Amino acid sequence: MSYTVAIVGRPNVGKSTLFNRLLEQRKAIVDDISGVTRDRQYGVTDWNGKTFNVIDTGGFVPDTEDIFETEIRKQVRIAIDEADALIFMTDAAVGITDLDESMVALLRRSDKPVFLAVNKVDNPERMFLASEFYSLGFENIYFLSSMSGSGTGELLDAITELIPKDKEEDENTKEGELPKFAIIGQPNVGKSSLLNAMIGEERTIVSEIAGTTRDSIHTHYNLYNKEFILIDTAGLRKKNKEKEDLEFYSVIRAIRAMDEADVCLLLIDATKGITAQDVNIFSLATRKGKGIAVLVNKWDLAEKNTNTARDYEKQLKEKLAPFTDVPVIFISAKEKTRIFKAIEVALEVYDSRHIKITTSKLNEAMLKAVEAYHAPVVRGHPLRIKYVTQLPTVVPSFAFFCNYPDDVKPAYRNYLENQLRSNFKLSGVPIRIYFRKK
Ligand code: GDP
Ligand code: GDP
Repeated sequence: MSYTVAIVGRPNVGKSTLFNRLLEQRKAIVDDISGVTRDRQYGVTDWNGKTFNVIDTGGFVPDTEDIFETEIRKQVRIAIDEADALIFMTDAAVGITDLDESMVALLRRSDKPVFLAVNKVDNPERMFLASEFYSLGFENIYFLSSMSGSGTGELLDAITELIPKDKEEDENTKEGELPKFAIIGQPNVGKSSLLNAMIGEERTIVSEIAGTTRDSIHTHYNLYNKEFILIDTAGLRKKNKEKEDLEFYSVIRAIRAMDEADVCLLLIDATKGITAQDVNIFSLATRKGKGIAVLVNKWDLAEKNTNTARDYEKQLKEKLAPFTDVPVIFISAKEKTRIFKAIEVALEVYDSRHIKITTSKLNEAMLKAVEAYHAPVVRGHPLRIKYVTQLPTVVPSFAFFCNYPDDVKPAYRNYLENQLRSNFKLSGVPIRIYFRKK
């Protein structure tokens, strides 16, 4: 299930330093929308065998003191609404400031767990200074140094204790369960229009499934005789005008929808092309092992000649690299073109993600591939891949058994992945490859 921890606090207290540490520098996702926020970052991490999303709410570049304070308070409110737990970060070197106090007032009103992280406690003198933070009255208080990492383990232990045991297997679609799709994309790409285009079809909605999660509606569709569940986050967003313009809000929603979905339909605007933000969302979905299809919407507005779609797809895939084995469909929500195709493709990706390849078929194809192109010799040892098997995991995973598993080079791993993709139907499906000793 999805669990999201947001880091809030004044600028310069050390939020992004902690964030990078939590992600062990695997800073896969950095989004920089200049002028509004400074590098808001989000990613997925694990600790004690539990996986959770982390969002660094960034810091607003102060235009004027007033705007600055208003904006930061807005962020805290959204974090309180949307996250499951909050890390409220302060700076021991600076001490308690007015802005800290005003954030405390907001945080107190929330019933979400708040962890007060007093940062920059680098040495015993700082610890002495830091004790003033007890006066803020938080039950969960952690003294740490994000820079050196001291104290961060205790904080993570406390947070992960709140997270229900990783339910990856439960998340696995059970027999008879319907495919779950999430339409994700930036504001104005046409998410609502696409939903409306689907709803506009007669008798498409079977039922709205109540009690799913508090912030998404699961709608059961039976469209062109295909059954699936669509996780709608766009519709809800519209209810709250104040929040609508906040990209933070759409990001946090997209992550949640993504966690619940089997396949993410990443909608992009044909006239704008794929943005850095889209690429970030795409790589997050990849890391989460979700199925993906890219829908290029507003294709009615694109100027077309014979090569347009092909060229467009080529350029798009250059930006999506290294994971480019993804279906791309050109649609128009407005003119209702290729909506059926998009659903068909989403269902195909869903099926591919549940692929079970028999060990004999797998070895037949892959040992041939190994024979055709041997792994390079490492330190005088020829690398021998003996056999390969698919692991019983949610995300398709493959274990290659070989004599020196640690010596397989990334280039060879990529070769094997490409071979898997060309031999089996895995379009839109992130896969995992492991090397094991035999
Ligand atoms: P943010 O604006 O809250 O994201 O803060 P940053 O992570 O960008 O950190 C602000 C500054 O504080 C940077 O110069 C960091 O190197 C520094 N910093 C972060 N954590 C620590 C810490 O634990 N100890 C010390 N001494 N400095 C830190
Ligand atoms: P959302 O914010 O992602 O839900 O986007 P909306 O569905 O509200 O669409 C944003 C704007 O794009 C609206 O003015 C729509 O009418 C327009 N739009 C959506 N899809 C299409 C399309 O396929 N073609 C054209 N020309 N406009 C579209």
